[in-house]
Amino acid sequence: MKRNGAIVSEHPLPGAFTPELLVLQQGSGARVTDVAGKEYLDFGAGIAVNALGYGRDDLADVAAAQMRRLIHVSNLYASEPGVALAEKLLAAAPGGDFATVQFTNSGSEANETALKMARLYATRRASAAGDDGAAPPRRIACFSGAFHGRTMGALSCTPTAKYQEPFAPLIPEIEVLPYNDADAARKVLDGSFCGVIVEVVQGEGGLDRMTDAFAAALNELCEQHDIVLIADEVQTCLARTGRLFASELVGLHPDIITMAKPLAGGLPLAATLLPKKIDDLLQIGDHGTTFGGGPVTCAVGSAVWDTVADTAFVEAVASKGAHLADGLRSLAAKYPRWLGETKGAGLLLGVRVLGEAKAAPGQEAATEPAITRLMGMLREAGLLTLKSGADVLRIAPPLIVTAADLDEGLAKIDSAVAALEE
Ligand code: PMP
Repeated sequence: MKRNGAIVSEHPLPGAFTPELLVLQQGSGARVTDVAGKEYLDFGAGIAVNALGYGRDDLADVAAAQMRRLIHVSNLYASEPGVALAEKLLAAAPGGDFATVQFTNSGSEANETALKMARLYATRRASAAGDDGAAPPRRIACFSGAFHGRTMGALSCTPTAKYQEPFAPLIPEIEVLPYNDADAARKVLDGSFCGVIVEVVQGEGGLDRMTDAFAAALNELCEQHDIVLIADEVQTCLARTGRLFASELVGLHPDIITMAKPLAGGLPLAATLLPKKIDDLLQIGDHGTTFGGGPVTCAVGSAVWDTVADTAFVEAVASKGAHLADGLRSLAAKYPRWLGETKGAGLLLGVRVLGEAKAAPGQEAATEPAITRLMGMLREAGLLTLKSGADVLRIAPPLIVTAADLDEGLAKIDSAVAALEE
């Protein structure tokens, strides 16, 4: 492992990682410090995960106490923290028809579970109706720009060539429809579909946001054809968009909701919320997990939930998001050569970065995408950010970020974009 300050190259991590990795050591609030002692304001939160920020003694105490009491039980047994967290999620989920929670460990697995449940529902519904002869519907619709994960099922619903092509063939009967196009959905969705999987804000695909009209069309079509409507809220759940669930933003009425990233404040925990009509058809052994919903992650998840699911906390996220969006719009007005539209919702926001910029010193090419150059400059200036799609600078700070932190980050973006001009 070669070190250049806190940047390592030739590291023992897979080639799918960037060759030059920044090694972080510790954090507090919305800030992290690298192994060379340099501090960064973190507008990425471990890819929209660390909802309550870093250095949380309260969460560490909950985890340590639960580890001493009971560390793991598997899904052969239940634990009190798992039951308690499931009850909280079900009580708060929009729509009110959710009956049970299947916990897993990652967003991909939560979606994998949801896709399996859509197929299972169609299969069992047919046999429950005594209709054993006809083949049950198998098709699943996903949308352009979607990201649902890297496991085979979730990847099959993630229609980006560079993610899919090396791993073909993917699972069959997946149809990709244009996002936010209600007419196209009306033309295609029918009784041959068992599931639709969709994001309210496309976290990885460029931060496009679902229109109310598209949400209404999906609600209506899924109801009409008894298609299981899956809201992938892996990135948007737990107040990230300024509502507890992003589905509430646009009036989407999903049958299944998947949640993950912020759920246990940084520990791996995911949840698939299932309606009674699916739970009623499940038989022992249909699905399972060894680690999913363990007592430690669920105990921490409950503590995170108790903080975030508070109305005042959710409203604070919405108003901090509005403040950040105003700041990004002002920067876009100031630098029309480099910055375009502001996208996203709540504290999952982005701004399109336009064109090519002079490359960083030491690069072979004379120019590079302005987004790449800008993110590098921001890191040097002590601000960690994310990308969404090809050219959107994504900002997803810990939800406990302060207005002063946001202003500091905006000032860093202002200076970096000004330097792009030179
Ligand atoms: N769905 C969405 C909307 C996501 O943003 C992600 C991760 N970026 C996933 C699924 C996959 O989650 P994981 O990486 O935890 O498998």
